[in-house]
Amino acid sequence: MSERFVHPTALVESRQIGEDTRIWAFAHVMDGVTIGAGCNIGDHCFLESGVVVGDNVTIKNGNLLCEGVVVEDGVFVGPNVQFTNDRYPRSPRLPQAARRYRDKGWLDPTLVKHGASIGAGAVIVAGVTIGEFATVAAGAVVTRDVPPYTLVVGTPARARGWVCQCGQPLRFEGESSSCEHCGLDFERSGDLILPVGHNPSLVEAALRPDPNDVATPRGKV
Ligand SMILES: [Zn+2]
Repeated sequence: MSERFVHPTALVESRQIGEDTRIWAFAHVMDGVTIGAGCNIGDHCFLESGVVVGDNVTIKNGNLLCEGVVVEDGVFVGPNVQFTNDRYPRSPRLPQAARRYRDKGWLDPTLVKHGASIGAGAVIVAGVTIGEFATVAAGAVVTRDVPPYTLVVGTPARARGWVCQCGQPLRFEGESSSCEHCGLDFERSGDLILPVGHNPSLVEAALRPDPNDVATPRGKV
């Protein structure tokens, strides 16, 4: 039988919560948040109005998801990840800055795509896209877009390799590789890798148009 679970100490103001989603102690889900089915929202999470979470997402304890953050299906967010949504923050109550905050023009949205993982304590600077099945290492500070299937590490986060859909590292010798753990076949085109048969134009279209703005393994340093 499908049902939602909301811990008695959680504050859930949204009605847009999917079936089989569990929300644990002291979490706060504001009105205007959308959460899909089959998710797990850990203790002490804060989800601000406007956040969208897909299906089968795991959000571990102590996470801040601020307005402008969209998390697609199957994403893993480790504990104490900090999302942001303003690249030039000032207090809106500061007279010199108040004009900028009269509308939502200051908001810089963040997209975490299908199947991606974000390690414990990472910081996601506003306005980036984390590609499908990418992995952000624990403690990384992500300042640029992360291509699909890419592992990024450090501060600022830089590409250090590739990961499979199953999450395990992929090794390439030449232009093709098979995952040692699940057998999925990949092909490589430059710094971009994709499962065999995948249409690369779809992934390239999802990235920012400026290739110098992407943290590829051999990209700008
Ligand atoms: Zn695999």
